Amino acid sequence: MPSITREDVVNQLRTVNDPELHQDLVTLNMVKEVQVDGGLVRVGIELTTPACPLRGQIGADVEEAIKRIPGVEQVEIEWGAQVRPSRPQTGEMGSVKNVIAIGSGKGGVGKSTVAVLLATGLRRAGATVGLLDSDVYGPSIPTMIGIEGARPEIRGNKILPIEACGLRIMSIGLMVERDTALIWRGPMVHGVVKQFLEQVAWGNLDYLIVDLPPGTGDVPLTLAQSIPMTGSVTVCTPQDVAVNDARRAVRMYEQLSIPCLGIIENMSYYLCPKCGHRDELFDHGGALAAAQELGVPYLGEIPLNARLRKFGDEGTPEKAFTDADDYVVQAIGRVVSALAGQISIRGELKRTAPTLTIE
Ligand code: ADP
Repeated sequence: MPSITREDVVNQLRTVNDPELHQDLVTLNMVKEVQVDGGLVRVGIELTTPACPLRGQIGADVEEAIKRIPGVEQVEIEWGAQVRPSRPQTGEMGSVKNVIAIGSGKGGVGKSTVAVLLATGLRRAGATVGLLDSDVYGPSIPTMIGIEGARPEIRGNKILPIEACGLRIMSIGLMVERDTALIWRGPMVHGVVKQFLEQVAWGNLDYLIVDLPPGTGDVPLTLAQSIPMTGSVTVCTPQDVAVNDARRAVRMYEQLSIPCLGIIENMSYYLCPKCGHRDELFDHGGALAAAQELGVPYLGEIPLNARLRKFGDEGTPEKAFTDADDYVVQAIGRVVSALAGQISIRGELKRTAPTLTIE
């Protein structure tokens, strides 16, 4: 039997498409290594995010394709991940690959909770993640991360983010007393957000998650004017009033050229820990319907759960992944992966989009 060549393997990998990016693994530059050892083929596949929702499917497709080569007995895949920058940044943000804003139509829907869960989930998958709390009207990230009262170090004209829970964090609540920011007017808000973007030494980050204030206002405008954003995520609860506000928020971000990466339904349902009864306290499915109507991705749902509230209050986000009920952990995991997938898609769209040349 003729021996298997590297080229045979690469040619087979040209037939495997990334199911979300709709291009083959070779064209996407995801094949990093091919080794042939008799009937054993080893390939290194580099995913575009460590939280890739489709690793299992890609793995099965790769194995199937390579096994079509006569003589292949075994396929081993070595996984790696390299998050790709969606849009180039400059200055202190120069090494930040993706900036994702988490917004909501109204307050109290769990936007900050979800921002912390997304940041922690991406970090747990292996990414380097920063969390910027720009909710001037209610900076709750320091409490949710357990760093209330901490003060960031100032070095020269740079502000060093606080490192906690494996994240690099900056919050308006770390710079001023909690009630001070509440009375700020537009120009002050604009100034402080610009300062966060220009002076915080973020370093290399795969993802910078930005917790926006609720509603539509100065902060998203400043962000959109100051830096290239990968996109926004809108959090809402299922009831009509919240969903209607979320629709408005999605439209406003899009008007600011911040594409919508998706909608998340928080407090989507409640499972009684004693009897398992499922209650849809605030209705159910409103976010999915809104996403379909707006033509934007639906990233999934997170249940209402007393432990999530508790972990938020005590500043231990990690526990949402280790100590919560399985169905809660799984729901959060699905949302994190769905977001990571959408960010990769967005980045690839930008890279392959034709540019219009006007002479
Ligand atoms: P927002 O940022 O939209 O104002 P928060 O994230 O501050 O909302 O959440 C408001 C309150 O609801 C907090 O006490 C938080 O712990 C709680 N909360 C948010 N999401 C959930 C959830 N899925 N289950 C239980 N409590 C939640």
